[in-house]
Order: sequence, then structure tokens, then C-alpha cells
Amino acid sequence: MKCWNCQNALEEVLVCERCGVPQTVGFMSPFEVLGIPPNLSWEEEKLRRTYERMALRCHPDLFRAHNDDRVLQAARSAMRGLNDAYRTLSDPVSRLRYVLAASGQTQEIPRAVPEGLQAKAQIIGRVLEAIEQARSEGDAEAWEAQQDHLASLQVQAEKARDRSHATLLALMLEWDQAVSQNDGGWPEMPPGWNERAMSWLGERRYLDVLEARMAAGRQWPAEAPAGEVSGG
Ligand SMILES: [Zn+2]
Repeated sequence: MKCWNCQNALEEVLVCERCGVPQTVGFMSPFEVLGIPPNLSWEEEKLRRTYERMALRCHPDLFRAHNDDRVLQAARSAMRGLNDAYRTLSDPVSRLRYVLAASGQTQEIPRAVPEGLQAKAQIIGRVLEAIEQARSEGDAEAWEAQQDHLASLQVQAEKARDRSHATLLALMLEWDQAVSQNDGGWPEMPPGWNERAMSWLGERRYLDVLEARMAAGRQWPAEAPAGEVSGG
């Protein structure tokens, strides 16, 4: 790629190293935009510093007074591209989702019950339904009666999340090793990695929804439940 302003062959994609003019961001991966290898494990702090360093060079405010309008346009494009890339990569789960999509895994991720919760899925469902019904009917006694169950199920869910975190770290490590074996290039993963990563995302979705329902179930609704609201 060449700089649109001075025709210099670009090494960085966002700002020309020779003339300092920002570049329009076309179709490229968020890793390319940030100028980093496609690794899955990144320290948050390191990514943030990379983002900030680049933002300091292509921020549109720097080019508002420029006499060529195209420079400001390009700065806006570069900044948008940089923000999008950072948003995608700053969270490990969204990084994993991006890597799978870019590897051609585009089907919808099914929610899956994590190992360790499978035997309890039915009980969890029953307890949550009883609580949700008690809340909607304003039945404080029925709600109270389920709270001990719920508290112990929350502990199980937390354990499942810890195990799920360890699985994520293992998936990231395998991917990063393949990246470094490929000299920092996009890796070819052994069969099975994509499937395991997809089912990890499915389990994470299940846990996210479950924990939100559990947290809500611990609260007694502050407002009067629907059934008791007098007409008005
Ligand atoms: Zn240039």
C-alpha cells in the first residue's frame, strides 16, 4: 500500500511515516489496523497503550486546520478504523469471536450448558422459574423459600465460570503458539480447535444469561409487582 498523499510505500496502515498524513482505512483486520500480530492473549494495558499511541497520531483534531480537506477526511476514517479495531480486540471474548468469524466460522453459536452444570440444569431451571413466578406474583414467601437453593446454585455457576476461564486460557495459548510457529501470521489451526472454541462461546453465553437471571432472582423487586398495581 502507498500513501495517498506522498506515494511512500506504507509500513504502518494508519499514518504515513514519511509525510505524517492519515490513511483511509479500507477492509483490513483489526490486528492489521493496530499493527500487531493476531494473538489472542494480550495484556489489556499493552493494547490500550498501542491504541492511545496511534490515536495521538491520527486524531481528526490534529488536522482540522489543514488546508487540504482530504487530510481531515482521511483522519476521520483512520480514527474510525482505529476505534472499531480497538473495540473488537480490547475484550478477550470478542477477540475470540473475531478470530473464529475471520476463520470462516459464521454459523450462529448455540447456547450450551457447561460441563459440571449439566446434571443440575433442570434443578436450576426449576428454581429460577419458581423465583421468577414468585417475583411476578409478589409472593415474598415463595421467593424467600428458594433463596438458599439459589445461593448454592450461584456458587456452582461461579465454579463453572472459573473452569470456563481456564478453558479459554488453554484455547488462547494453542492459538498463540500456532501464530508464533507461523512467524506472526494468521495460523492454520489443527482440526477441532474451532469446534472447541465455538462450544466455549456457547457455554459462555449460557453462563452470562444464567448469572444475570440468578442475580435478578436474589433481588426482591423494589416496585410493586404487576398484579398488585391498582388500575389508574
Ligand atoms: Zn505520505
